[in-house]
Amino acid sequence: MDYFYGPGRNHLFVPGPVNIPEEVIRAMNRNNEDYRAPPIPALTKNLLEDVKKIFKSTSGTPFIIPTTGTGAWESALTNTLSPRDRIVSFLIGQFSLLWIDQQQRLNFDVDVIESEWGQGANLDVLASKLAADSAHTIKAVCIVHNETATGVTNNLATVRKILDHYQHPALFLVDGVSSICALDFRMDEWGIDVALTGSQKALSMPTGMGIVCASPKALEASQTAKSIRVFFDWKDYLKFYKLGTYWPYTPSIQLLYGLRTALDLIFLEGLDNVIARHSRLGKATRLAVEAWGLKNCTQKEEWYSDTVTAVLVPPYIDSSAIVKRGWQRYNLSLGLGLNKVAGKVFRIGHLGNLNELQLLGCLAGVEMVLKDVGYPVKLGSGVAAACAFLQNTTPLIASRI
Ligand code: PLP
Repeated sequence: MDYFYGPGRNHLFVPGPVNIPEEVIRAMNRNNEDYRAPPIPALTKNLLEDVKKIFKSTSGTPFIIPTTGTGAWESALTNTLSPRDRIVSFLIGQFSLLWIDQQQRLNFDVDVIESEWGQGANLDVLASKLAADSAHTIKAVCIVHNETATGVTNNLATVRKILDHYQHPALFLVDGVSSICALDFRMDEWGIDVALTGSQKALSMPTGMGIVCASPKALEASQTAKSIRVFFDWKDYLKFYKLGTYWPYTPSIQLLYGLRTALDLIFLEGLDNVIARHSRLGKATRLAVEAWGLKNCTQKEEWYSDTVTAVLVPPYIDSSAIVKRGWQRYNLSLGLGLNKVAGKVFRIGHLGNLNELQLLGCLAGVEMVLKDVGYPVKLGSGVAAACAFLQNTTPLIASRI
């Protein structure tokens, strides 16, 4: 048997896919519909307008695509660039590594800036590359806002400042898969040309929807970009936007209704409140890690992530044993260490539709698991540190005041 029933809820604390709120589950529990009849175009029109808000963009053009984050990457790259274009990309963990692999396989000339895993993007090297590029051979700068493998958040405002400082016209392409709807993200203000996310992260939906937002400059670039694209070609989407039918192929009716409810919940709480909640949960998690006497994989405070914390374990412990034990004994799902940090870190995802007490349940579970695997943790230490902080900072629920 490969499936074991566990009583109660599974405590899902991997950094995506995350918990889906009941309201979203119920909204998706419906029959198919004729997508050419008036309701679906009307629903889509509103979704396209509303989804721009999660990017903090008014000038962008969104594309809601039945794909995952990986497909959203491909959409961003192939619509704006041509084979052999030189692009600068930062390698800081498993997801930036996978994006770079895709960039290379799509035949771009990728100039990789590598940092130790646990560090953020090296923006000094970016500055020197842009300074040396008066001929403007660099066509795009690609960056993962939040590296989910190491819990590192990069500073996008600084990237924009550097591009502006050198008056460099490179496109600014951003993976916001584990940041958008959870971390401060300002597409227009930071001059981002393409931003993208996936539905199973902070939007708290099932996997299967990639959402891409393109600036006017990115749309212009798409007119001359020569990369081969078919399914992801923005031209086809724009043609159907103009026609008012919106879909060049059959949309997932259920996911569209799910997105409607997911956005409604985010707007009901208030996007800025959602971001503040993530900041609180991130800080509470880090306080617990400190109280356990363990180290954050993220080397500097400026890169701390409010959506995922990668916890370094002592060398005598294999971090995968922690993940395995959490699942086997406490119905707790934690994130494994990936690639270079496999066995060395376990990850606590604290993103999406999640509240303080859910997080405390996870932290209590981690403490018991740590004791199980032979780490001398004082039971209750991390929970107490997190509680002390959360008791002081958790606001009343806005709709219940
Ligand atoms: N980018 C980041 C930062 C991610 O965390 C992930 C997945 O976890 C991806 C991209 C890839 O997304 P997907 O698995 O939806 O293709």
